[in-house]
Amino acid sequence: MNKKLRVAIVGGGIAGLALAANLFRYKHLDVILYEAAPQFSEIGAGISFGANAVKAIECLNLADAYHAIADQVNEPFQDVWFQWRNGYNDEYLSSSIAPQVGQSSVHRADFLDSILKQVPREQCYFNKKLASLEETAEHIILNFQDGTSAHADYVIGADGIHSAVRAYVLASQNLPTAHPQFSGTWAYRGIIQYQDFKQAIEQAGLDVQIADVPQMLLGKDKHILTFPIRRGEQINIVAFKSDRSQKTLPQGTAWTQAVDSQTMLADFADWSESCQILLKLIEKPTIWALHELAELDSYQSASGRVILMGDAAHAMLPHQGAGAGQGLEDAVILAALFEQESLTIPVLPKLSQVYEDLRKPRACQVQRTSRESGEIYELYSSDYLSFEQIGEHLIHRFDWLWQYPIERDIVFAKTQMNIQCAS
Ligand SMILES: Cc1cc2nc3c(=O)[nH]c(=O)nc-3n(C[C@H](O)[C@H](O)[C@H](O)COP(=O)(O)OP(=O)(O)OC[C@H]3O[C@@H](n4cnc5c(N)ncnc54)[C@H](O)[C@@H]3O)c2cc1C
Repeated sequence: MNKKLRVAIVGGGIAGLALAANLFRYKHLDVILYEAAPQFSEIGAGISFGANAVKAIECLNLADAYHAIADQVNEPFQDVWFQWRNGYNDEYLSSSIAPQVGQSSVHRADFLDSILKQVPREQCYFNKKLASLEETAEHIILNFQDGTSAHADYVIGADGIHSAVRAYVLASQNLPTAHPQFSGTWAYRGIIQYQDFKQAIEQAGLDVQIADVPQMLLGKDKHILTFPIRRGEQINIVAFKSDRSQKTLPQGTAWTQAVDSQTMLADFADWSESCQILLKLIEKPTIWALHELAELDSYQSASGRVILMGDAAHAMLPHQGAGAGQGLEDAVILAALFEQESLTIPVLPKLSQVYEDLRKPRACQVQRTSRESGEIYELYSSDYLSFEQIGEHLIHRFDWLWQYPIERDIVFAKTQMNIQCAS
């Protein structure tokens, strides 16, 4: 008889895969990952990780793979997360410093590939879109859209912002459904060649730091960010524009679409020359309608045997570059909780409670402050009225986020499981 605990992970994005790479190592677990798509994939864009996320990556035994592909800015700017500037005239305001990490960024597809090297494919099932969950006294039944079903002792919903697992978790506790909410912000995205940008900036006689150092250019209801990827050969660009009175997307509007450059350039026509150069270099921009979730009341089902992680639990606006980082922190804590070899089914609700107690307050704080950060960048916050005030505030705004002592949570999680399994 198979006495291993059967753990199902639903969704193979960054969060689900980073967790899977760790849980697959535990001999006392039988882990299966179910992915809706025919294969694992990420979008063609960059992703940036704060010091806390880099630490989480290290805790998840992914450090070597990550550092082999991650970018770090050259000296003397290696500790700079972003330089903050006035987007209308490039005036330098300040820098946020993250010692020893600075701006740590990768191409998303490269990062996913690096995690995949540690995930056994035979335990990953594709084209398995979860439709619904049911619980009996013995197990949880996963019903897929293709008409098949599977059983597990514990289910982890890592199925992103549209999570089917979240719908079940909230309904099981008679909590209202949580739908993604449109933020009123659109993001133009693109990747350009660093050499092209540097050359154009030099020819225009502009400050070369704009090409060499990650930038956040700020303005009214808009901001633009840049950071290097692919060993500095490319620059990832996101240009945001907001109308915060827009609470819903017009019916039928796609969340992501191709957009013509003229539309994007017109939105930033009164911005600095360097911004014009930057945006003109994007060959095929796309535009994204940014959505977030409200802070959930709970991350676990009534039984405590189904939980949420990553965007399924706390999808947030990208203004602190922290969404995936929070999914990675979730994975760190789950990996610590599941390490206990004598785990049994009756202990699983306690495991969920420890996870929720550790993760929910922090993830909610990151969700909240991500939204507020966007408001500050776009001169929408009444607390910071001038560029000078904003620049001053942003120097240390993210210290609490980056310097989080996750080691303390790991120790707490493991101790709690030791106590529970011994009693
Ligand atoms: C413009 C933008 C910029 C960003 N920049 C950053 C950044 O710099 N740094 C950062 O940390 N974060 C950033 N983020 C946030 C980050 O992209 C997300 O937080 C992260 O990718 C979420 O990962 P996830 O694994 O939780 O979910 P997802 O990546 O959404 O993965 C979910 C997976 O579940 C699968 N799935 C969905 N439904 C089902 C189902 N019913 N059954 C089975 N499988 C299912 C999907 O196919 C997918 O593979 C940004 C977001 C945006 C929009």
